[in-house]
Amino acid sequence: MHELGIVLNTARTLDELAEEQHLTAISSVTLEVGEVSGIMTDYFTDCWDYFKGRHPLLRESTLKLVTTPAVTICGSCEKTYPTVKYGRQCPFCGSYETWLLTGNECIIKEIEAE
Ligand SMILES: [Zn+2]
Repeated sequence: MHELGIVLNTARTLDELAEEQHLTAISSVTLEVGEVSGIMTDYFTDCWDYFKGRHPLLRESTLKLVTTPAVTICGSCEKTYPTVKYGRQCPFCGSYETWLLTGNECIIKEIEAE
C-alpha cells in the first residue's frame, strides 16, 4: 500500500498548507512523480479518488500527475544518463559506480485553491 501512504502524506501536507494560507478547498493538485519511484500512477489516482471523498478539503480536487524522468550520475566519468534506458551501468565508461540523481521522488509541484 505504498501509494495510499503517499496519498495520506500528501493530504497531510496540503492540510497544513491550507491552514497556513486559510484555504477552504483545493481545486487541483499537481504532483511530480519520479519515473523510478515505484508509484503506479493508475493505482495512485484510484487511491486519491477514494480518499478525497472522505476529505472535505480535497473533495472537489483534480489530481494531475507529471512524470519526471530518472537521471543517474556516474561516479567515474561524472556524466549523467537516463536511468530507465541504461540501468545501473554507465553507458559512457561501463562503470557501476553510479547514483540516482532524480526520479525517486514524489513532490507537490503546484496547487490551485479557491
Ligand atoms: Zn561513466
